[in-house]
Amino acid sequence: MPRYEYRCRTCGDTFELSRPMAESSAPADCPAGHDDTVKLLSTVAVGGTASAPAPKAGGGGGGGCCGGGCCG
Ligand SMILES: [Zn+2]
Repeated sequence: MPRYEYRCRTCGDTFELSRPMAESSAPADCPAGHDDTVKLLSTVAVGGTASAPAPKAGGGGGGGCCGGGCCG
């Protein structure tokens, strides 16, 4: 189940919730009970290398070979 990060605008606290993707935009109460929260950027793949360049998706190459390492 993906984890989503939220920030409470009442107390300024940030917290994470594990919830289905369908409920990612549903209102979330902060641990202190406030309901005035906003969803932050989803924190997916926490613990990986944040400096790795993101591969281009659908860059017009037309093939899915290059980039996977099979082209040398
Ligand atoms: Zn709060």
